[in-house]
Amino acid sequence: MRLKALIAALTLLASPAIGKEWGEVRLPTSGPARSIGGPATGCIAGAELLPPDGPGYQAVRVSRNRQWGNPATISFIRDLGVRAKAAGFADLYIGDVAQPRGGPMASLHGSHQNGLDADIWFNIDPKPALAPPAREDIAIVTLTTPDERRVDPATWRSDHARLLKLAAEDKRVDRILVHYAIKKHLCETLPATERAWIRKLRPWRGHNEHFHVRLACPADNKDCVTQTPIAAGDGCDATLDWWFLDAAERRKRDEEAQRAAPKPQAGPPRPKLPAQCAAILRAP
Ligand SMILES: [Zn+2]
Repeated sequence: MRLKALIAALTLLASPAIGKEWGEVRLPTSGPARSIGGPATGCIAGAELLPPDGPGYQAVRVSRNRQWGNPATISFIRDLGVRAKAAGFADLYIGDVAQPRGGPMASLHGSHQNGLDADIWFNIDPKPALAPPAREDIAIVTLTTPDERRVDPATWRSDHARLLKLAAEDKRVDRILVHYAIKKHLCETLPATERAWIRKLRPWRGHNEHFHVRLACPADNKDCVTQTPIAAGDGCDATLDWWFLDAAERRKRDEEAQRAAPKPQAGPPRPKLPAQCAAILRAP
């Protein structure tokens, strides 16, 4: 009987409707907070809710109910708000953290699953004092040009770099995903002696209107999986240039790299959620 229940749970976890199901749970489980698994295949028990307003920040799109996270993440966001305010920034807009029990989301994200990821908007303009429900439909400003090859001088400001630095210098932060054109701009404009901190900025697509902070697993979260460490160096190298190649050239380089290191062929199959997550989804 136990085995049958386990198989049923595993089948459930593999089903395509799963993101929807995790999104329908409105509250976290009770008990101590535990992030389980990794950012792209995980869940969280005992998640904490980010208050919609706090010193230096305002949460946006709270109707999505994605402002839950590991207490470490909630403290990080609140501390960043306080530090940003002290550094002269207007309130920050905070986007998605995680669903009440983490897990896959039905839309928009592959990650944000174990309560250690948070989206912070690049909008550093002064903001009106709107009640949370009035912050559902806020206009988004992108920091890159339409061809996504450079930062847009009309929207990019050196204060964006200052804000990223503030976030990256927090020891809890494992990495920050930003658009590759933003990383490139920092590589090109900061002297080599002043850019050690940009090591934590990882180039990715999207992320031209928000940056995505990922915290390392808190030490006492034994079932939490931190990503493979970032390679040494500031990342202003061929791995960054790869993003600027055209599709055919990228394919060619990837094939060459695969031939040079033939092991990881088509990549491993997408891992399933850790088994504990089924119990977390089902818990009262
Ligand atoms: Zn994100």
